[in-house]
Amino acid sequence: MILLPELPFGNDALEPYISSGTLDFHYGKHHNAYVSNLNKLIDGTELSQETLESIIRITSGRADKIAVFNNAAQVWNHTFYWHSIKPAGGGIPYGPLAEKIDMDFGSYEIFAQKFKDTAVGQFGSGWAWLVEKDGKLDIIKTSNADTPIAIGVKPLLTVDVWEHAYYLDYQNRRPDYLDSFIKNLINWDFANANLIAKII
Ligand code: FE
Repeated sequence: MILLPELPFGNDALEPYISSGTLDFHYGKHHNAYVSNLNKLIDGTELSQETLESIIRITSGRADKIAVFNNAAQVWNHTFYWHSIKPAGGGIPYGPLAEKIDMDFGSYEIFAQKFKDTAVGQFGSGWAWLVEKDGKLDIIKTSNADTPIAIGVKPLLTVDVWEHAYYLDYQNRRPDYLDSFIKNLINWDFANANLIAKII
């Protein structure tokens, strides 16, 4: 049985950038629904013995397991997203990741623009990610539930660009949501910890 992890902050802690109303729905309804849908789908099957990460890897690319994959990946992606943001976050990075961003993108400003452009440019629902692949940082986007961990790429940071993540606060202004994410919400502690971690 997969459990809904606790939010790492209070429902109103990200205001004014992400409202408590958004978190009530996004965490309390959407994330929660992915968890309960997944449990219904795996209950009584061999997959119920697996970790969430294993379920994602086992079902990735399998036409007969699309619903399981989608719900499992969305559970994982959302938990990763909650840790990618924090109150009074964002702004200039620090620690080992700051040096690596300068080295691999040229500067923080180039990184921030590319991250924003990639997230805004994701057509429809999905995610934008800062990842480390073959020792180098990259920014990628994925559609719907797709997740880098299904293809063995290590994520450091993600932003949810499904409309449910920002519509109550920003309506159709996805670029403004991205500005808030980059300037006020990114959890660089989490991204630094992921950079140092050996495993995905
Ligand atoms: Fe979401």
